[in-house]
Amino acid sequence: MSMSEKEKGKEKALKLIEESIKFILVETTHPGNIGAAARAMKNMGIKQLGLVSPKEFPNEKAFYRAKAATDVLENAEVYKTLKDAISDSHFVVGTSARNRKVPWPIVTPKEAAEKILSLSQQPESKIAVIFGREDRGLTNAELGLCNLHVHIPSSEEYTSLNLSQAIQILAYEIRLKALSVEGMLEEQEWDVPLAENAEVERLIEHFEELMQEIEFYKVDNPRQLLTRVRRFFRRSKLDHLEANIFRGVFASIQKKLKK
Ligand code: SAH
Repeated sequence: MSMSEKEKGKEKALKLIEESIKFILVETTHPGNIGAAARAMKNMGIKQLGLVSPKEFPNEKAFYRAKAATDVLENAEVYKTLKDAISDSHFVVGTSARNRKVPWPIVTPKEAAEKILSLSQQPESKIAVIFGREDRGLTNAELGLCNLHVHIPSSEEYTSLNLSQAIQILAYEIRLKALSVEGMLEEQEWDVPLAENAEVERLIEHFEELMQEIEFYKVDNPRQLLTRVRRFFRRSKLDHLEANIFRGVFASIQKKLKK
């Protein structure tokens, strides 16, 4: 690879991360953390910020802590729910300081960055990385909306990092990967766009409904079952047509059952 090819590749990768990646902060309590997050992101060339029901925003403290990243705050989008924030995302990465009962695919920040960079090459791709509340992180239901989980391998003695520092680590790994384009895997071009988060959510809900109708659903303790079903659909990288086919099949089964 010649020098100018390398430079061009780097430029392209940096543009891709700016255009396709959105960091989403859920119910942040301290506005100072939102400002620090904006700075941590912009330092690494990531500028799309989404805020789900922040406690205090806009706020002076956020702008103070953002320093030269106030543009990231000014352009931040505020949502009522996480589902709204990620409804059109094709790939959602959740961050967590804890382990789950039913394990999800879980990776290090470096591995997550590789996956994100390779997916960002799909045309129009929208990738979301979500961060939880300072005191409680993300709920299990919120982590269940994600395709992949990331854990920063912190000390077991004290696992949870400050919110903006966790954001810094993710943003840094993504930038590092973008700068090393020689090693970047070419993602296979797919014939159909990936399904959006909201489409997969409707599909999961539809399947739950069907399981109930055929009395498969264990009404006394459905939790683990539903979590496993959800995990299956979330890790499958369904495309838009595949999601439609399954919904069509479920609807046809329901129609037959009603006859
Ligand atoms: N007590 C909470 C920690 C919240 S820390 C919990 O148990 O989850 C606030 C946020 O910072 C987390 O929701 C996550 O987005 C991020 N974070 C903190 N430590 C992390 C770690 N070790 N790995 C991944 N994300 C982390």
